[in-house]
Amino acid sequence: MSAFVGKYAGSRLVFRLATVFLESVVQLADGFCVMMKCAEELIKTAKYIATPGKGILAADESTGTIGKRLASINVENVEANRQALREMLFTAPGALEYLSGVILFEETLYQTAADGTPFVDILKAGNVVPGIKVDKGTVDIAGTVGETTTQGLDSLGARCAKYYEAGARFAKWRAVLKIGPGAEPSELAVKQNAEGLARYALICQENGLVPIVEPEILTDGPHDIKACAAATERVLAAVYKSLNDHKVLLEGTLLKPNMVTPGSDSPKVGAEVIAEYTVAALRRTVPPAVPGVVFLSGGQSEEQATQNLDAMNKLPVLKPWTLTFSFGRALQQSTIKKWAGKKENVADAQATFLARCKGNSEATLGKYGGAAAGGDAAASESLHVAGYKY
Ligand code: 13P
Repeated sequence: MSAFVGKYAGSRLVFRLATVFLESVVQLADGFCVMMKCAEELIKTAKYIATPGKGILAADESTGTIGKRLASINVENVEANRQALREMLFTAPGALEYLSGVILFEETLYQTAADGTPFVDILKAGNVVPGIKVDKGTVDIAGTVGETTTQGLDSLGARCAKYYEAGARFAKWRAVLKIGPGAEPSELAVKQNAEGLARYALICQENGLVPIVEPEILTDGPHDIKACAAATERVLAAVYKSLNDHKVLLEGTLLKPNMVTPGSDSPKVGAEVIAEYTVAALRRTVPPAVPGVVFLSGGQSEEQATQNLDAMNKLPVLKPWTLTFSFGRALQQSTIKKWAGKKENVADAQATFLARCKGNSEATLGKYGGAAAGGDAAASESLHVAGYKY
């Protein structure tokens, strides 16, 4: 009898162990499926945003920054005016055809057009993916000469989940570095910002958002293009080391770098030179697993930014990623000027915006003919602001 009880108890133990094992396999499989589903969606979204011929409109200026734009045309920084500006951009006839994504500020993600249609629905109907700025700006790193790190990791997961619910499918986080006389960017700033970008990227991916990884090196300063190239290569190498250490799925990310240019207080060079230095820096540091490089304009004039992008895409070297635009200032400047906050100017301003989107689309294919400016001097004005905050 006791042998029977012992045997019975033994088989119960085996059964219990088998059940626990099976439960954990099912849990693992569930987790795996969730990961796989996310991975598939992330890869698909990133690849779509990087479609040649399309690019991103960065319309994610914080309330303070958009206030400066509005002030430049004597328009008050109130929600109704911010909404009107964004509605003008998102409903410009024909423009969405040249865009694959629009980055929004939180307020805009939840806004509607005047007729009540959510902005998110307008973008989706035009096959444009809504994105969201998720960083909370920069703070100084103590002990450095004005170098910064980006804030916003606390509660980022919860915010990403909420933004996904609201229709966002990608995100942006801007890390800011600078070139300075004390060998800036310092090792500390490079490391801090690379780690921050990697933590952000992984949290986004866990919540179904494609992270745009943006390590922007400011153009401020008298340095030459070689110094910018060296800093860009050093920063990008550190960023991809961190992304790999954190096991970020590179196929489900996009890179948003600065173009490699001379400093703002240094003599200008031609688009072909910028293209060569920029593409060389990318080829040395950015893995081919990344589907797209979406440049910021960083204070260049609208025309310069488009011509530089065009020159890069004309270069006869292997570029395993799409090279496209994610411009803020260089897509909006002359449009905002034309609009000047007046209803009667909306159609003209939208035509200007369409021309810029089309010109940049051509530049992603290396086929820009220079027609986007249409003789408008505003398109050639420098948009550089020292220590620019987004
Ligand atoms: P600019 O093109 O105006 O540099 O801005 C792009 C952007 O999103 C910066 O974070």
